[in-house]
Amino acid sequence: MAQRRPLMAAALAVPLLARGAAAQATAPATLAMAPGFFRFKLGEFTVTTIHDGFRIMPLQGLVRNAPLAEVQAVLEESFLSPTDYRNIYAVTIVDTGRDLVVLDTGNGPQAAGATLGRLLSTMPAAGLDPVRVSTVAISHFHGDHINGLIDAQGGAAFPNSEVVVPAREWAWWSDAGNETRSPPGQRRNFANTALRFAPYAGKIRQLTDGAEAVPGIRMHAAEGHSPGHTIWHIANGGAELIYLADTTHRPELIARRPDYETIFDFDGAAGAASRRRVLDRVATDRVRVTGFHFPFPATGFMKREGQGFRFVPVDWASAG
Ligand SMILES: [Zn+2]
Repeated sequence: MAQRRPLMAAALAVPLLARGAAAQATAPATLAMAPGFFRFKLGEFTVTTIHDGFRIMPLQGLVRNAPLAEVQAVLEESFLSPTDYRNIYAVTIVDTGRDLVVLDTGNGPQAAGATLGRLLSTMPAAGLDPVRVSTVAISHFHGDHINGLIDAQGGAAFPNSEVVVPAREWAWWSDAGNETRSPPGQRRNFANTALRFAPYAGKIRQLTDGAEAVPGIRMHAAEGHSPGHTIWHIANGGAELIYLADTTHRPELIARRPDYETIFDFDGAAGAASRRRVLDRVATDRVRVTGFHFPFPATGFMKREGQGFRFVPVDWASAG
């Protein structure tokens, strides 16, 4: 390891530390943060990403096909914790002028812990009323993507919305006969699917590969992470964006090593093949992306680097 260099001469350090202590005394005694949303134009469309929160999970066992030490090294390359997995969540919302579309719903207000399920409480700060949402488009039925379909009381979080789902995802998780054919860790998705979609009975529309959810938003199958995992292609006036959903989990880990298979994957090898295909496309064509487990504001570009890809975020100055 390279020898650490002192930041400053010792004589300078003392007054700086003293100033730091004074600032600390007046800082608010809380770690709470303000609502997090980010917004940019895509042609005539307006895209908003909303921070749904984070969860700290065990790192041991997360990646099924690489040794822990190697996974830790990849995380450390991006200055991420090598002792646990900081899972993060961001919802993409598209206002097309005709439709207000929420792409996945996050963990929902019933999620345990104060750091999760922030979508509904943050939407008003972003000028978005859940009552105005016309379409919820779901990428796949893992809990962090569908639990926010229901509100704190168990009713529809988006009472005037239809819900658009990939037909293959619906077919798998709505048939209890598939339960024994699913990885043990994913079997709870069957009951959870029934619970979360119940308030939308009669308003669920199934789509097949290439079909439009609403004008300007089209589904494309990217299966493996789940049986019907889908990405969404959003286009207007020559501008395009791909919502990658869970094509990669945290890109600092899974985009850097696209062949990694995680405990979240239904069919890890198929998921890796989809990941390589989709990341190749967005890197080659320099297509802007959003991703569900991407560092907030969860939008930017993917570039080819080393044996995988690197996420290059965009910032507020690039919002237009
Ligand atoms: Zn997910």
